[in-house]
Amino acid sequence: MILLISDLHLEEGRPDITRAFLDLLTGRARGAESLYILGDFFEAWIGDDAMSPFQRSICEALRTLSDSGTPIFLMHGNRDFMIGKAFCKAAGCTLLSDPSVVRFNGQPVLLMHGDSLCTRDEAYMRMRRYLRNPLTLWVLRHLPLGTRHKLARKLRSESRTQTRMKANDIVDVTPEEVPRIMSEYGVKTLIHGHTHRPAIHKLKLGEDTAQRIVLGDWDRQGWVLQVDEQGFELSAFDFVPEPVLALPQGSQAT
Ligand code: MN
Repeated sequence: MILLISDLHLEEGRPDITRAFLDLLTGRARGAESLYILGDFFEAWIGDDAMSPFQRSICEALRTLSDSGTPIFLMHGNRDFMIGKAFCKAAGCTLLSDPSVVRFNGQPVLLMHGDSLCTRDEAYMRMRRYLRNPLTLWVLRHLPLGTRHKLARKLRSESRTQTRMKANDIVDVTPEEVPRIMSEYGVKTLIHGHTHRPAIHKLKLGEDTAQRIVLGDWDRQGWVLQVDEQGFELSAFDFVPEPVLALPQGSQAT
């Protein structure tokens, strides 16, 4: 059994998501053949040298799973494209380039984060090319921490405002880009995240039937794609509510 997840947007302010993820690591993912994380694993990442205690604890949890014998493959998203070799080494993960072709059940499958499929968003595509340029990345990695924090906050707030302003179809994948890239890589299955629109889409690829599986973001619930001999199964699960602390008699909640 192979598990794929994406868009957890892990951050300290969402202990419910963190708990659900840690439960997955010690539960379903234990003994899995492999775990794939297809980007936007962290809400923000400003460099391996700037890991917060929270991020360090996630790193250690990944390490525990990989040490137990389940390989972990990690792909960059648009939020955490600064994750580098040092983090992957510490977490026991293999960094996957975007896109990557893997073999599931003997069939080639294309894995992507998904942002590069949204080609109609030209402003974003320009920004993406700029930010992923090795020279830009080098400069970003060498900026003082404070500047990186500021820059990350700015990028996040800009991305939020722009996503709100842009038409719905612009922030989704470009329909023609899907068969194009699938033909280019010779696959009948594409798996990606990013759009936060979980679904399994069937499509025609020449004479063949193909499928595009969109992973869901973890917000109100979690999403996992399981691959086994039966095929692909995309499912959501509810987060376990945080235990409510019992207040002593006569005390007031504030
Ligand atoms: Mn994304």
